[in-house]
Amino acid sequence: MIKINENYLKLQASYLFSDIAKRVAAFQKANPEKEIIRLGIGDVTRALPQICIEAFHKAADEMGNDSSFRGYGPEQGYIFLREKIAAHDFNARSADISADEIFISDGAKCDTGNIQEIFSGDIRIAIPDPVYPVYLDTNVMAGRTGIFKDGRYEGLVYLDSTSANGFVPELPKTPVDLIYLCFPNNPTGAAISKEQLKLWVDYAKQNKSLILFDAAYEAFIRDDSLPHSIFEIEGAKEVAIEFRSYSKTAGFTGTRCAYTVVPKACTAYDGSGGKHSLHSLWNRRHTTKFNGVSYPVQRAAEAIYSEQGKAQSKALVDAYLVNATLIRKEMSALGFACVGGDNSPYIWVDTKQDSWEFFDMLLNKAGVVCTPGAGFGKCGRGFIRISAFNSYENVKKALSRIKDSLK
Ligand code: PLP
Repeated sequence: MIKINENYLKLQASYLFSDIAKRVAAFQKANPEKEIIRLGIGDVTRALPQICIEAFHKAADEMGNDSSFRGYGPEQGYIFLREKIAAHDFNARSADISADEIFISDGAKCDTGNIQEIFSGDIRIAIPDPVYPVYLDTNVMAGRTGIFKDGRYEGLVYLDSTSANGFVPELPKTPVDLIYLCFPNNPTGAAISKEQLKLWVDYAKQNKSLILFDAAYEAFIRDDSLPHSIFEIEGAKEVAIEFRSYSKTAGFTGTRCAYTVVPKACTAYDGSGGKHSLHSLWNRRHTTKFNGVSYPVQRAAEAIYSEQGKAQSKALVDAYLVNATLIRKEMSALGFACVGGDNSPYIWVDTKQDSWEFFDMLLNKAGVVCTPGAGFGKCGRGFIRISAFNSYENVKKALSRIKDSLK
């Protein structure tokens, strides 16, 4: 008899965004004439940088010629891209990362989800609340949690991000082995300072733990004092893995390209306390289960590092940040406490009421879709996430409708 992985039964029945989609579809059916403005799911709306499109076309043409055609590439990614990443994203910021510590993939979602495979089943895990659900659900699937009770899975250490701690969690009170951090944060939009991040790196060193640092929104940082990478912090190479993505940096959500940095110095332990290189383990996992990102996509990603590419991708992010600034300003003016929007495309709004009720009110009265904070964890109850990924005109229209709906 074929049996299922019963850990899947512990997962919450519906995924946040399918719940939202159902409510939006019901509203649209009842109000077919109403134009809905979506500031919910974090998908970009602006076209790829022109320089990426040119590189994409050129690479596609190469594939049409026997002499320049490429079949399987290196699973870890082409060296032309990995070298650019090491130089521009790390060495230029005094982070000593080399090209062979970088693994190109088709998304930070897969990487943040897959990475847990290389760790033991009985580790103690610290997960932020609110959280990007992938970290949580993939550990549930792997059987590292108990059942879901009172809004939380048993067996995990939750790192509360609240207004009291400025949405940067404090170090755990009980020892943990694996720590998920995401800055600038999804969903709260909060950023972490170098001093705050150093506390986590020091904690990891003292406790022989590992930090999984998700920097998918790094390109939105505008405050020069903030770290773009955990590897800007001294000693982090021994205790951290970092995830990056071109999805929000350069509009690659539909094109798919990301990367994970596993430094060679990064270690973990076997049951007898023997040290092992996580780089070797991840390399083994990656080359066994993944066959590389397509050549044209990697050429398109490489183009981001040219002078034109940098300017064009910065312009993309800047446009979303203009929206984010406006959202934060207007929501604050309406009397809501907000975080994010300055170094992040997300604004986390304290609605002072149930987040699904507020979601329904915005949908029904303003025709605006946001994301209810409760979907990201217990600490998200009472908050909504508004995303800046839309046109300036739509954001302005949405805010004016929100203002009217609150009168
Ligand atoms: N990490 C965070 C925090 C995200 O918000 C997202 C996407 O929304 C991802 C990772 C996934 O990125 P990708 O498109 O590269 O899979």
